[in-house]
Amino acid sequence: MKDSSVPHPWSAEAEDVLSRLQTDSDQGLSQSEADKRLQEYGPNRPLQKQAKPALTIFVEQWKNLIVGMLAAAALVSFGFGQALEGVAVCMALLVNVAIGFFTELRATRSMEALVEITKTESLVLRDGHQQSILSDNLVPGDVVPLEAGDVPAADMRLIEVSNMEVDESALTGESLPVAKQTEPVDVHAVLGDRSSMLFKGTALTAGTGAAVVTGTGMQTELGRIALLAQEAESEQTPLERRLEAMGKKLIWATIVLAAMVVAIGVSSGMELFLIIETSIALAVAAIPEGLPIVANIALAKGMFRLARENAVMQQLSAVETLGAASVICTDKTGTLTENSMRLTRIALPGDGVPFEEDLGQAKDDERARELLRVAALCVNAQLHPEGGDPVGDPLEIALLEGAASAGMERPDMLEHYPEEREEAFAADTKMMATFHKDDGEGYLVQVKGAPESVFEVCNISEEERQTWRKTNESLAGQGLRILAAAQGRAKSLDDDPYYNLSIVGLLALRDPVRKGVLEAVQACHKAGIRVVMVTGDQAATALHVAHELGITEDAADRALHGRDFKDPETMNREEKDRILNTRVFCRVSPEQKLQLVKLLQAEGLVIAMTGDGVNDAPALKKADIGVAMGKRGTQVARDAAHLVLRDDSFSTIIAAVEQGRAIFDNIRKFIVYLLSGNVGAIVIVGAAIPAGIGLPLLPLQILYLNMLSDVFPALALGVGQGDKSVMLRPPRPSSEPILDRERWIQVIGYGLLIAATVLASFWWARIRLGLSGNAAVTISFLTLAFARQWHVFNMRAPESNILSNGVTRNKFVWGALAICFFMLFLAIYTPPLAHALHLTPPTVAGWSAIVGFSLTPLVVGQAIIILRKKGRE
Ligand code: ATP
Repeated sequence: MKDSSVPHPWSAEAEDVLSRLQTDSDQGLSQSEADKRLQEYGPNRPLQKQAKPALTIFVEQWKNLIVGMLAAAALVSFGFGQALEGVAVCMALLVNVAIGFFTELRATRSMEALVEITKTESLVLRDGHQQSILSDNLVPGDVVPLEAGDVPAADMRLIEVSNMEVDESALTGESLPVAKQTEPVDVHAVLGDRSSMLFKGTALTAGTGAAVVTGTGMQTELGRIALLAQEAESEQTPLERRLEAMGKKLIWATIVLAAMVVAIGVSSGMELFLIIETSIALAVAAIPEGLPIVANIALAKGMFRLARENAVMQQLSAVETLGAASVICTDKTGTLTENSMRLTRIALPGDGVPFEEDLGQAKDDERARELLRVAALCVNAQLHPEGGDPVGDPLEIALLEGAASAGMERPDMLEHYPEEREEAFAADTKMMATFHKDDGEGYLVQVKGAPESVFEVCNISEEERQTWRKTNESLAGQGLRILAAAQGRAKSLDDDPYYNLSIVGLLALRDPVRKGVLEAVQACHKAGIRVVMVTGDQAATALHVAHELGITEDAADRALHGRDFKDPETMNREEKDRILNTRVFCRVSPEQKLQLVKLLQAEGLVIAMTGDGVNDAPALKKADIGVAMGKRGTQVARDAAHLVLRDDSFSTIIAAVEQGRAIFDNIRKFIVYLLSGNVGAIVIVGAAIPAGIGLPLLPLQILYLNMLSDVFPALALGVGQGDKSVMLRPPRPSSEPILDRERWIQVIGYGLLIAATVLASFWWARIRLGLSGNAAVTISFLTLAFARQWHVFNMRAPESNILSNGVTRNKFVWGALAICFFMLFLAIYTPPLAHALHLTPPTVAGWSAIVGFSLTPLVVGQAIIILRKKGRE
């Protein structure tokens, strides 16, 4: 690959850089040239993380404790002259390695595929047209239009800037945004002083402009730093860490148990070879090998499912956190509503009191036309740019459409009133203004913005202001979004636009609520999740929408104004409770969002918070689950978030929470299933040795069964769709361990139940069926084997239906059972395998006993689930 970087582009004139890169600031590259350069320079990917080679994964499988134990068992077998046993253990070992290898390979490959899902896009100019391309395909010479919220995907030389500020903290450590410009700087300037450049890894916090790509892939500053830095360790998710810790504990517990078996065996005069093999087999059986890997597969599978539902997770671990979400803070416009607005009503100054009217009826009114003039002039959006589709803020597009419906097209209006200056919309003033030339002296100033802000800067009496406020309240109370319009005159372009204005009227826009949101809110309430609206809009509008969607249940609910928000640290209990009980927060600034997150977190709640702007990034980062909008949001917000909604819809958040819960549930089911089976095997052997009744299970049998049950049904449980009922319970406390008390009781209880049944079957085989030796052991072994298969159905959710539930609907479970049954029949009826496992085909009476005893844990388990459900009701 060729080096894609231009030397010292910061010290050359922008024009020079453009010509050196043989590109044009108005046209960009041609598509064919861009394709050629992509071939030449390679994709724009920093630090291409090498896919873990299959060989490495394979080698890693040998470095684990279980393999060590099996190898020891094989050596012991050969040492005692038991070649057949030895070979069988070696096979078990190989199968173990193979299973570990394939599951991990699968998990690693799905992680790599996830990287594809989370790829970003960049806007570029090619063949004179703006288009969105995968950031991977950026090449040197590409011309990139920029605006606040963008995150440059390559290093670039600026060719045009307007008020541009950039957060370079990730690269330079400088926490304040730095200003950018297009003039060349000293060739020796350090990174932080190269003000004519934009670097990958930084973020535009303000302004607009354009730049030409000068370095891609590893030839970016970030790429160089990444090369210098050690290869980043792949981070473990909290869940993986917890699982690993649990796995380690289990290993130690197992070793202690194995030692106990040896001690008991020796003291009861058992054959040494059998004791050692049994203890090793037990140890192997007790360790849930696949634990971290299955958990990973479950998470990755969940991520894929989410991606299909338009929710893209940025980190694996967030899937788990999602399931614990207890509060969802959502913005209104676009998430709860369609964000496709229509100007429906207006209010005009009447004789003393303003009056409301439908837009359709007022078009000929002189005052209405004055109001629509503001709507057509004081905007940034365009309705038909070069005959294309509308571009810009949907609110402004709606205003333009409203004006156009009265025959007032913006391009015509601009011919009469050429725009000379724009005072951009600012979140603090909540207004914007434009200056226009007209017949009069100086400039015509057109202003629109939040009603309370505009009323403040209009030259009207307090009484008039009151009447306007009332009209605003009445319109907003119908759920309409209200903007006030005003106008004035300025002598020069430097004048403050918000001074001495006269009010022109109110523009009321309808933004219908999104389909499915009402149901999603209800689903949240059923799932014990609080839904809180956090909006920049005014109280009356917000409350109306909140009520329509069931976010507030009581019509008398009030909204808390962002201004009434205090630093959480200075709040007393009463004030905190008031906030905790509030469902609608209005006129909230991004800083206040951050405070809200902190306050709620301090109360032990797990918060999902939505956001789209640059300023929302801190709140998104701080929230347990930051949710950014894929369509509407800025790249900065998306980068800060844990979850990106491709369709911007609230309902998708709920789907994601459901997935998160299902995944955690699956992992729990999988662990309970595994451990209860293992406890069963340990208890059987542990009880049989001192009782002196001979072993109901032989070491190789334990290994064989362990390989079947630990892998197939357990994996199947891990990747199931989950029970619908996961959304009918309150969220789990985030501090709750994977196995809480209840689940430990289940593990032990089911383990004892399985052990009791198997011991009973062993007794039955010897005493009632008069069997001995291998024939009796076959009965107890097969009872355990089948009991463990049926037992998978005990893993259904307690609230679920006995026949139709997450386990029975899981097709993987049925597949897994089919495989296990097949392997068991193979073990009984193929002579070499039967011989190695010391199995003899049971008689009809034997089979009846096996079926009868093996079903007992299932029947008892289901009875307990049903009784507990009844008890709860
Ligand atoms: P949310 O997206 O949280 O539901 P919002 O879009 O109303 O709310 P902001 O974007 O913070 O929140 O806007 C705050 C207020 O500023 C708006 O309610 C509106 O009154 C005013 N406003 C928004 N956009 C413009 C604009 N382009 N020109 C003038 N005023 C605007």
